[in-house]
Amino acid sequence: MTMTVRQHEYLKLLGIDVWVSRDRDALLAETGGVDTTTVGMNTVPDSDWTGLREQVAACTNCPLHHGRTMTVFGSGSETADWMVIGEAPGAEEDRQGEPFVGRAGQLLTSMLKAMGIQRQQVYIANIIKCRPPANRDPAAEEVAACESYLQQQIAHVRPRIILALGRVAAQNLLKVDTPIGRLRGQCFEYAELQIPVVVTYHPAYLLRSPKEKRKAWDDLQVATNLYAGLPA
Ligand code: SF4
Repeated sequence: MTMTVRQHEYLKLLGIDVWVSRDRDALLAETGGVDTTTVGMNTVPDSDWTGLREQVAACTNCPLHHGRTMTVFGSGSETADWMVIGEAPGAEEDRQGEPFVGRAGQLLTSMLKAMGIQRQQVYIANIIKCRPPANRDPAAEEVAACESYLQQQIAHVRPRIILALGRVAAQNLLKVDTPIGRLRGQCFEYAELQIPVVVTYHPAYLLRSPKEKRKAWDDLQVATNLYAGLPA
């Protein structure tokens, strides 16, 4: 099967070696190697949004507030078509107050770019807003305490599609305990707002298990194709 320019770029940006013919190299060089498909980008100031951000910054609803440096509210376009949801802040996110910074963040940026999306065009958030000690999985009580913040973020952004990164994000969004291997690459629904959800591996896991990047690429294609087929 012939590999398209976009398919090649998925693999290349995810760090997967791809054999290409000289002709294909020439084609990539001509196009700059990047598919320029984009989605809408916009930001709209909103007092409710500011209030929610302030509420999170001052939150003491669960014990995680004791150990945090900063809350990590989220970042990106408040009117994004795509919402990316991860698990919890790590050490660098806790220091900077931004989601998905560091190596995992760089890989996420590459994954989005491979899909033809600039990072600032999506909205990125986590299931919980404060870093768990030693990056352990968030406890069920902590997720429950933080849940309404993410629900309000999703309701405000109203994305057309959600990409859930990793088991914790997927299971909590979909309210299931199914292993991620059986969730990834399919279309589910965020039941509260009937928003399609596609699950893939967390970039931090992909850094530890680079062989799984091909599966992540398949998942991203599922998500991209699903988005392309959504009614206008
Ligand atoms: S994790 Fe969520 S619920 Fe817990 S203190 Fe932080 S913002 Fe509040």
